[in-house]
Amino acid sequence: MPNQLDQIATLLHSSRRVLFITGAGVSAESGVPTFRGATGAFANGLTEEGLPFEEVLSGPTFLSNPRLAWKYFFRLELSMRGKVPNAAHRAMAALETPGRSVCIATQNIDELHQSAGSTNVIELHGSLRRIICPSCDYDVYHPTFAGLPELPLCPQCHAILRPDVVLYEEMLPPAALRRFDQEQEAGFDIVFSVGTTSIFSYVTWPIESAARRGIPTVEINPERTSISELVRFRLAAPAGPTLQSIREKLAG
Ligand code: NAD
Ligand code: ZN
Repeated sequence: MPNQLDQIATLLHSSRRVLFITGAGVSAESGVPTFRGATGAFANGLTEEGLPFEEVLSGPTFLSNPRLAWKYFFRLELSMRGKVPNAAHRAMAALETPGRSVCIATQNIDELHQSAGSTNVIELHGSLRRIICPSCDYDVYHPTFAGLPELPLCPQCHAILRPDVVLYEEMLPPAALRRFDQEQEAGFDIVFSVGTTSIFSYVTWPIESAARRGIPTVEINPERTSISELVRFRLAAPAGPTLQSIREKLAG
């Protein structure tokens, strides 16, 4: 009786189109803290001010109290600074071959999938280091936030700049959503959900839809989530060693 990892490796072997939906848990082993979960950055989900992090990192807070929002943009950037891809990012990148396309729809804003070499990454929540002006067309890439003023202003129109990320209560970027829709219309042979609490419908729907149509689904997360009951393979383990061992079985 082959174990789950062998079965997944066999399925991947014959897959031409693979989807990975990823969340903050994938970067946890790179030393980037998640928001929620056992190793979460916010104890009880609260900031130093005693506010829920979803409120502080929201579109309305950026408008009403940009200094507070920027305080946590700086914290986030610091938590990602100098971090490098781990075995999970590397294994997903290595699965791309001339005969197998791999789409990564990530909620992460740290660009570690791209650093690992994945070429088809859909950033559902944007990227923290792209700084944009909400009022004009100014944008600039900041590999680190070191040296930025506490409240960065647009050099063209003096509006308060912001990272090109999706804050709570904001819409997803239309271009990323369109790409994700097109990829889903083309279909997948296997769908993975890795390191996400799976609370948003746009990351649970592809799993639900694949499961309904009998397409193999895999969840890798030490903690249970809303999709744990749905998936064909539920791997309650950390992403790095799990994906590394699937990669080795596939190669061997
Ligand atoms: P989350 O922070 O809410 O939860 C992380 C999930 O990862 C939990 O379910 C946890 O059980 C799981 N996890 C923890 N360690 C793991 C491991 N080693 N292997 C596999 N799974 C592991 O994640 P989320 O819902 O993706 O985060 C909320 C939003 O905050 C994100 O969508 C993102 O925009 C932003 N965020 C991004 C980063 C990043 O870019 N690295 C980090 C923190 C938060
Ligand atoms: Zn501007």
